[in-house]
Amino acid sequence: MAHSEDLLVLENFIAGKFVPCSSYIDSYNPSTGDVYCKVPDSGIEEVEAAVRAAKDAFPIWSSKSPWERSQILNKLADLIEHDLEAFAQAESKDQGKTITFARTVDIPRAVYNFRFFASSILHHTTECTEMASMGCVHYTSRTPVGVAGLISPWNLPLYLLTWKIAPAIACGNTIVAKPSEMTSVTAWMMCKLLEKAGMPHGVVNVVFGTGTKAGEALVCHPDVPLISFTGSTLTAQRITEKSAPHCKKLSLELGGKNPAIIFDDADLNQCIPTTLRSSFANQGEICLCTSRIFVQRGIYSEFVKRFVAETKKWKVGNPSDPTVNMGALISKEHLEKVRSYVKKAKAEGARILCGEGVDSLALPAGNQKGYFMLPTVIAEIKDESCCMQEEIFGPVTCVVEFDTEEEVIKRANGVKYGLAATVWSSNVGRVHRVARRLQSGLVWTNCWLVRDLNLPFGGVKASGIGREGAKDSYEFFTEVKTITIKH
Ligand code: NAD
Repeated sequence: MAHSEDLLVLENFIAGKFVPCSSYIDSYNPSTGDVYCKVPDSGIEEVEAAVRAAKDAFPIWSSKSPWERSQILNKLADLIEHDLEAFAQAESKDQGKTITFARTVDIPRAVYNFRFFASSILHHTTECTEMASMGCVHYTSRTPVGVAGLISPWNLPLYLLTWKIAPAIACGNTIVAKPSEMTSVTAWMMCKLLEKAGMPHGVVNVVFGTGTKAGEALVCHPDVPLISFTGSTLTAQRITEKSAPHCKKLSLELGGKNPAIIFDDADLNQCIPTTLRSSFANQGEICLCTSRIFVQRGIYSEFVKRFVAETKKWKVGNPSDPTVNMGALISKEHLEKVRSYVKKAKAEGARILCGEGVDSLALPAGNQKGYFMLPTVIAEIKDESCCMQEEIFGPVTCVVEFDTEEEVIKRANGVKYGLAATVWSSNVGRVHRVARRLQSGLVWTNCWLVRDLNLPFGGVKASGIGREGAKDSYEFFTEVKTITIKH
């Protein structure tokens, strides 16, 4: 290969084989700022080959029983789990996240995604109704859609990609996946295990490359009737436009501007450490992260004092150090963007309580060029500020006061997004009441990120269209037909 030997060079995975590409993109290690990997810069040609392979594999794969498919998914889960440490190391290096997060969240969840859908596919039933007076029975039948196009972001690379691959193939579809060009390594590692798992060639195809070239070629391909996308709202708008002429089935999981609402009867001993995690876990690069904290006036001062003190204890540094709480942000450009929000807040007269521009960050010698910043808390900021309205997607959270339940619901709903919210109170009636009125696809009360994969996941407003989960993914990745039998 025409690349320097010390660089990791990825290849597309098409029809069960690794295939080199004619051009490559640099991929950076966010904790050092060095190029360490070359990612195929695929385009129409590569996507065409992958779609053809997926189309060819569809008749055989879709006619397998759910049980046969389930066995292969479980085997793949076992193989990833066997290599968990290697996957975690790769994810941490590629994305900048801490090794601890990759070991305990990303890779275990990728394994679980396969196990979960291997099991859930065995338990679906279809509907049946009877019209005795007409002598008719009606029932529904579900069949896989065909070639599914799966496009995923960089923040939880293998976790979110497998959350799409597992249900798509469990339902009998074949797939062409396009991971983020910034975090492609673990998807490539997964491809190496497919043969051993018994996956027939062409069922899973992965093309690497940018969104504008490879992603758009997939979205526009006439033989891909379904697109499952997780990423930004802006990209989703483009995908919707491009796929509209083909009337494609779309699932869009998008950005958020998630509120935490903390009432004065909240248990702060639980609320503070959880809100710290919900604000800064994975460098704040989770679509479900809290970025607006509304605190009732009576406990505002105490909350802020304790929250800032805990934030200052968070250790930022080399992601492979297991004592570190926060690693590097994904890219230099993203780091600059996140920092620019803090600058804007300051210029508007807000107060930066800790972090960016206030405290100093000491980094190990090898990480001086990495994309690091301190977790940052902003106060005295107006609801209309861009920091309170736009998704920052980094370790920055705003904390503001409120007085009444009515007021906070209105303010929490006053953004274009509606993905996730948390509500903290010991009043059971109140948490139900507030949860029902929040414009949000998910509401956690007195906790955060506790997920039952059986139940729907997704957002409202600019946070997305469609839901994913056991039943929802089954419905999305299959077509339903109503059949009437007259007897
Ligand atoms: P992004 O929209 O820039 O990219 C996501 C994916 O889409 C990448 O693979 C990218 O290459 C591809 N892409 C870009 N332009 C494309 C185009 N024109 N056609 C087809 N594909 C294209 O998002 P990102 O920066 O990678 O990820 C961060 C965003 O993802 C944030 O907004 C975050 O909130 C969101 N996100 C949402 C969820 C959720 O479940 N709701 C989960 C994680 C991340």
